[in-house]
Amino acid sequence: MTHVESPGSPLAAERLIALGCRILAHQGLAEDVLGHISVRDADDTLRVRCRGPRERGLLFTEPADTHRVPLEGPPGPLRDGYRAPNELPLHQEVLKARPEVNAVVHVHPPYVVAADLAGLALRPIVGAYNIPAMRMALEGIPVYPRGVLITREALGKEVAAAVGDRPVGILRGHGIVATGRTVQQAVVRALNAEALARITLAAGAHRVPPVLPETDIAELPDLGGGFNDDLVWRSNTAKLEHAGLTPR
Ligand SMILES: [Zn+2]
Repeated sequence: MTHVESPGSPLAAERLIALGCRILAHQGLAEDVLGHISVRDADDTLRVRCRGPRERGLLFTEPADTHRVPLEGPPGPLRDGYRAPNELPLHQEVLKARPEVNAVVHVHPPYVVAADLAGLALRPIVGAYNIPAMRMALEGIPVYPRGVLITREALGKEVAAAVGDRPVGILRGHGIVATGRTVQQAVVRALNAEALARITLAAGAHRVPPVLPETDIAELPDLGGGFNDDLVWRSNTAKLEHAGLTPR
């Protein structure tokens, strides 16, 4: 049986990060071991998915793979031989720049990366197929033009500035940053960006898809963020459970 995690307790954050990582990997957004989720924690810290000596990839993330590290500066030593992600500065700088954001997803979704490299911007080309993805594209999905690993504070600040106040940003030749008030929202935004990129690439193989007409955009209902995030999250946790992939 799936159930909604109560936000706030550290245990819930650990489990939400584990579930989110598994959903991203299960949906093909994180190939093998690359990618992480972070959550804002108390006292100027964040909790982030780290890698330990028995790392098996994002699909098998356990709550114990998450660690609390400072919001500023190096992570310091972690228990049990774990290491914080090299790209920790990406999480730190986006969380510092965005007080309304509590969760950051960084993964390397192949369709988003391919669409951007093909010169195909993620535009509002779909309607009812995926309304939240259309709205995200309507707001604009910014691109950070460098393909470097975000290992330093200065690079993290560049990414945070490029993403601005948008839900999702693309890192060219690299991956995406998806933000959210919750882990669920950030994960579902990442899934929606990849869904839009898949359609963009498939349609773009023949011609540049036209943007959805203004009248159709105005006609589409506002389903509310919670509707999409809750349903997609629940559907994906059910898929994990069905595949025997729910973390302990
Ligand atoms: Zn990366």
